[in-house]
Amino acid sequence: MTHPAVHKTVTGLRAAIAGWRAAGEKVALVPTMGALHAGHVSLVEIARQHARRVVVSVFVNPTQFSADEDFSRYPRDFDRDLAMLAEAGADAVFHPDAAEMYPEGFATTVSLAGPATAGLEDRFRPTHFQGVATVVAKLLIQSAPDVAVFGEKDYQQLAVIRRMARDLDLPVAIVGAPIVREKDGLAMSSRNVYLDERQRKFSGTLYMAMEWAARRVGEGDDPVVALRESAASICADGFQIDYIELRDAATLAPAEPGRREGLRVLVAARMGKTRLIDNIAVPVSVKKG
Ligand code: AMP
Repeated sequence: MTHPAVHKTVTGLRAAIAGWRAAGEKVALVPTMGALHAGHVSLVEIARQHARRVVVSVFVNPTQFSADEDFSRYPRDFDRDLAMLAEAGADAVFHPDAAEMYPEGFATTVSLAGPATAGLEDRFRPTHFQGVATVVAKLLIQSAPDVAVFGEKDYQQLAVIRRMARDLDLPVAIVGAPIVREKDGLAMSSRNVYLDERQRKFSGTLYMAMEWAARRVGEGDDPVVALRESAASICADGFQIDYIELRDAATLAPAEPGRREGLRVLVAARMGKTRLIDNIAVPVSVKKG
């Protein structure tokens, strides 16, 4: 097992990628903020199925955090990340500092509508997607990959990036990757380390209640009732809900009454100071009765 090369500058990253390109090799990019877990590793594995070379970026992007969010305490452990990426078979790690990504006088951002203003995460984190889209646009321009892999865990983010790539004609295929979960269903997240033992014990409810609601909608039950009851059981286990919604899986527009196919349930809830998000496809099953 060899350690992947670590590049801290755009110039160094581009030189490495140019070498692979000259050899006719395809390149995939996996953007991350570090504090890696098995969900990130699965993205690297999926990237590997699409390209001979896999670049993973590790950058805690300040512009996607608002002033009252957890930028300064966001978990960081680059040595551990690097060991995991070596194990996962990444070829290169791009680990720039903030000055490399945002040079003195930085003044350009991506302006978003469509899925970025669907009324889900954007209602609670109004500046978040502009920060995400701008840094992802930069990473895609810096590395010019054939493929970039993003998790369905951040479902609205994935829709925003697909839309941006299409709208700006970015020459990259955006690949979505399934959510990797803990045994009790909790979606893996770098932020799960914030949960104390008691909170962690109850956090599996979020998945179970969301999955239950999606199943009921798929069986033809009234979504309003299913989501309300699901929300009640999430709250009963100590969460405060930001939203739990049924949306079109592609556009994120609200689901029309009576519709059952091509839908997604999306949820965000807070347990103490920790905010968790999750989502699931509505499985279409034979109508009951
Ligand atoms: P982050 O480091 O949290 O910004 O996430 C980097 C990438 O990993 C994003 O595309 C996330 O959607 C994805 N990701 C995070 N958690 C998971 C998970 N549990 N399963 C699959 N992908 C994930």
